[in-house]
Amino acid sequence: MARYRGSVCRLCRRENVKMFLKGDRCFSDKCAFDRRGYPPGQHGQRRGRKVSDYGIQLREKQKVKRMYGLSEKQFRLFFKRADKQKGITGTNLLVMLERRLDNLVFRLGFVNSRTQGRHFVKHNHFLINGKKVNIPSYMVRVGDVVEVREKSQKVQVIEDSMDAVVRRGIPQWIELEKDKFKGSVKALPVREDITMPIQEQLIVELYSK
Ligand code: SF4
Repeated sequence: MARYRGSVCRLCRRENVKMFLKGDRCFSDKCAFDRRGYPPGQHGQRRGRKVSDYGIQLREKQKVKRMYGLSEKQFRLFFKRADKQKGITGTNLLVMLERRLDNLVFRLGFVNSRTQGRHFVKHNHFLINGKKVNIPSYMVRVGDVVEVREKSQKVQVIEDSMDAVVRRGIPQWIELEKDKFKGSVKALPVREDITMPIQEQLIVELYSK
């Protein structure tokens, strides 16, 4: 399936949650969700629509998929891998999504959004343990060190994003050395580190049908 190229703010409004897909704008009074917190489209403001169980599960899956900027195919593959692992499938899925390199560089504040993270990873702006890695889905491990390449440290977007990182906060499982443009993975993320409002069991129910 082709990647979504429309307005990402529409996605937040559709899923009824701020997904922080647009960097700094999400924290400003220009946020479309704060201004118009109802679903987009002609019937967006209609009230009292009954949603089926399937509809609720589908929306939850769409929300998480859009949060992490994945296609349906990629998301389903992640789910399959999560399902094969020991433990709770829903938690496994979220942990795997968090471990993606494009998410990590976003969490560390090197970029403004996961989408931007994906572009920057593909364009070789980062090193992992001193080596070039340009695969956005690369899964980081405990002890991995991610750094911005020396020549990329002057890229304006990265500088601006790092200035704004304090406002977003950094999860406990990673550590940032801001002066060195470097971050490391202290531990694997756990469910409590993922603070976005996600009901992952609904996704499991959806895919288990
Ligand atoms: Fe979502 Fe950010 Fe757009 Fe607000 S500004 S609607 S949080 S993408």
